[in-house]
Parts: sequence; C-alpha cells; structure tokens
Amino acid sequence: MTELGSEGTPLRVAIIGSGPSGFYAADALLRQTTYAVEIDMFDRLPTPYGLVRGGVAPDHQKIKSVTKVYDKIASNSNFQLYGYVEFGKDISHDEFKSYYHAIIYAVGAQTDRRLGIPGEDLPGSHAATEFVAWYNAHPDYAHLQFDLSQDAVAVIGNGNVAMDVARILASNYEDLHKTDIAQYALEALKESKVRDIYLLGRRGPAQAAYTNPELKELGELGDVDVIVDPVEGTLDPLSKAALEATPDPLAEKNLKVLNGYLQKPPEGKLRRIHMRFLVSPVEITGDGHVQAIKLVKNELQQASDGTLRPRATNVYETLPIGLVFRSIGYIGVALPGVPFDEKAGVIPNDMGRVIDPATKTPVVGEYAVGWIKRGANGVIGTNKPDSQETVNMLIQDAPNLPQIDPSKATRAAVEALLNERKPNHITYTDWQLLDMLEMQNGQSLDRPRLKYSRIDEMIDAVERSRRAQPLAPLP
Ligand code: NAP
Repeated sequence: MTELGSEGTPLRVAIIGSGPSGFYAADALLRQTTYAVEIDMFDRLPTPYGLVRGGVAPDHQKIKSVTKVYDKIASNSNFQLYGYVEFGKDISHDEFKSYYHAIIYAVGAQTDRRLGIPGEDLPGSHAATEFVAWYNAHPDYAHLQFDLSQDAVAVIGNGNVAMDVARILASNYEDLHKTDIAQYALEALKESKVRDIYLLGRRGPAQAAYTNPELKELGELGDVDVIVDPVEGTLDPLSKAALEATPDPLAEKNLKVLNGYLQKPPEGKLRRIHMRFLVSPVEITGDGHVQAIKLVKNELQQASDGTLRPRATNVYETLPIGLVFRSIGYIGVALPGVPFDEKAGVIPNDMGRVIDPATKTPVVGEYAVGWIKRGANGVIGTNKPDSQETVNMLIQDAPNLPQIDPSKATRAAVEALLNERKPNHITYTDWQLLDMLEMQNGQSLDRPRLKYSRIDEMIDAVERSRRAQPLAPLP
C-alpha cells in the first residue's frame, strides 16, 4: 500500500457543511503542500455557502460577494460538493469514517438561544434566526409567517443580527427590491404596517455587541428616525471608568454615532427605531398573541472578571408591542454520533481536534471549524484563521490517521454510494446552474436574483437540465 497522502493514496477529507468555515478549511487543505488531498464537501441543502446565503442580510450584497472566493476554491479538481446529502441521515457517521481518513465538521450553530421567560413561545414571539432565514429564502423557513400588520415590534439583543432584523423591518420597499431578499418576503414587507421598532439591550451603549458600520447604517435608512433614550444612551460612571482604564475603539466609535442620534431631533419620518439600553425582558404577555413586553430596568455592576454585567433593579415598565424577535445569539446542535457540549453548544475540541468527553483525548480523524468549534461569534473573516488552525492540527496528525479500505478511499466509491442513497444529490456544477437560473429569473423582475426557496424546485431544475428539458417557470 502506498503512503497516505501520496499522489496514489491521497488523504481523503470530508467537510460537513458548506459555509465560510468549511470553505476556508478546504482552502487551507488545498494550499498545503505536504500531502496530496481530496476534499468532498457535504451539505444537507442543495445550495452552498451556509450563512452567507441564509444569514447575511440581503441588503449586504457586498459581503455576499465573498462567494466568488468560495467558487474559486471549488474550481480545484481535488474538491467536490455533494449538496442535499445529510450527515447522519443519508450517510451515517460510521460510514463517513469508513470512506474518509478525516472528517471536518463545519455545521455552524443552527438554533437560537432561549430567553427563558414566560410568554417566550406566544404566537408573535419569534427567534430572530427564523426571521433571518425566512427573508433569505432558506427552504426550512420559507413557509413561516410573521404578523407584519403590527405597528410596534421589539427586537431583543444588541448584536449584529438584531441590527439586521431592525434594518430589514425599517427598510423601504424600493431599497429591498434592489437586494436578493426572498420574493415572498419582499411582498410581505411591502405591506408591513410596522412603524416602531424597539431595540432592547440589557447592558449600556458601551457594551453593545454590534459593529460600527451596522450602527451607522440605521441612520442612513431613508424613512427612519433613530431615537436614543437620553438617559439610557448616556455613558454611566462605571462604563466611563472602564473605557478610561482600557480604551475600546469599537465602543468609542459606537458611542460617537449613538451620541449623534441622541442629539438629532426626530423628523416625523414614517418609521422609528428606538434604541433602548439597560432593560431586560422579564415576560411577554398577550391573549393568544403577543400584546406587550414587560421590561425590568438594569444597572451595571462589575463582575469578578472585571466585566460590567447587568443587574435588575425593581423598576419595571410595560411596552405595548405586537411582535417580538429574540436575537440573543445562536447555539450549535449535536450531530448524531459526534461528541457535543450541550452547555456551550459546541463540539468539544482542542484547537479543532474533536475531544472525547469521556477520555478527554482527541477522537482520531475528527475535527471542527467555525461556530460549531468556537461558538457563534466573529465575522466571516474570523473563520479563516480558525479553519487554518484546525487544518494545521489535521496535517500534524496525518501520519497517524487510520488507513481505510482502499476500495472505499476513492471519489468513485463515494459517488457509487450516493447514487444508490441519494441519486438526486447536487454537485458544484449543478449549483452553478441553479445560481445562473436564480440570476436569470431575477433579471425579469429587475432584481439581482430570484432565490429558490423550495428544495423540490431546485432538484426539478437540475434534473430537467440533466435531461435537457425546458425549465418549469418559477411561481
Ligand atoms: P451576539 O453578537 O453574540 O449578540 C447577542 C446579543 O444578545 C448581545 O447584545 C447580548 O448581550 C444579548 N443577550 C444575550 N443574552 C441575553 C439575554 N438573556 N437577555 C437580553 N439580551 C441578551 O450575537 P448575534 O447578534 O446573534 O451575532 C452572532 C455573530 O454573528 C456575531 O459575532 C456577529 O457580529 C456576527 N454577525 C455579523 C454580521 C455583520 O458583520 N454584518 C451580521 C450578523 C451577525 P450581552 O452583551 O449583554 O451578553
């Protein structure tokens, strides 16, 4: 048998998930020169790019253009995508281990954190992640409905997802029309009666998690007054002292922009974004549907690690609102057969090497990258060094990776298995066809793309093209 990683016996790596962290892991593997590698990337959806397609806001087309980098990676002959193939369902964990020398989990953080307050599940209270996936045409969420006939909405959390949700709710039809927002979402938002959007932060303006461009964008929306509560928006003595002791350029920039909003009198615009700080929701109330949110006023206190944390006072207020988006972070979901840390919502790992919680030793040949490795934080670019770190571990381990049955260690063997299990799986070439069709379909409506939101339509389009049949028109 030739040596693993030689041209004759390339290192076969499966990457589970086709978002940024998966692509950066593929790139790092393809760039290293020690071993010959072949990479098969799997995704349960027929479309690649993970949160770049299903998470990044549609009005951030420039951020989405990072997919050009991923297309270049995918053009390497040692890379293949198998879309519409689900780990643990179409191919089991054990089967993956028998076909690949190594597996890299790049599955992201697929669900939302819970507030744990009464009324959280009332109709009209939604995870922001669901709204985001809905307006981005994610097939699992396309059927959802949001009651946009309400005039007041609460968005809980002060991160970039909360900003995205507030901005999309506050945007004009004309501005959204220029984006690749799902057609059904565009039409629903056109009829929206939402006028007041309350962004609720549990800590102060200096502790907000959103980044400066996102904060500035609120002020650039055409028909929106951004209103900052003068008391809550003013720096408290603890935050002031903390910033003096340890300068924080992000917080300083945000404070400057917030101060600008605070100074600017409202101009009677169509919609209002109210930026509230130092308030925590304690209950969502309503008779069969969200009607109000009860908030407790917080003050900041210094925790033992030096950070400023919120502490509830005994001052309450009730805000009448008809819709709630809970935007307090994403959390990972366990994969069948793969170790999982329930509390942190990640695969336990050491620099990307998956760790067996029982023995505290690495699980041979299994690795993690991205949000399922480090938690749901950072921007797209954060995944590049993160994936590189994991790939460095994999390359270090390569001499000790287990040999697998040579008859299974080939792309042809995997394709034979897929043709039997999931004959309608999607390759990168198939995806490029879908990509082209989405753009073509968008042209007729003067939109950058008209996204498919149904898996059966995607599969049908691919199959018709394989049979060279005319395509069914999109509904
Ligand atoms: P995030 O940045 O972690 O923000 C979560 C927010 O929820 C924080 O303000 C947090 O407040 C608050 N929170 C947590 N638990 C809470 C509770 N029980 N009650 C009230 N508030 C609570 O999460 P995210 O917005 O989901 O974003 C995830 C990652 O994606 C971030 O790294 C983000 O920058 C990135 N992202 C980037 C972009 C972009 O670049 N445009 C767009 C979207 C997302 P505390 O700080 O007090 O904990």
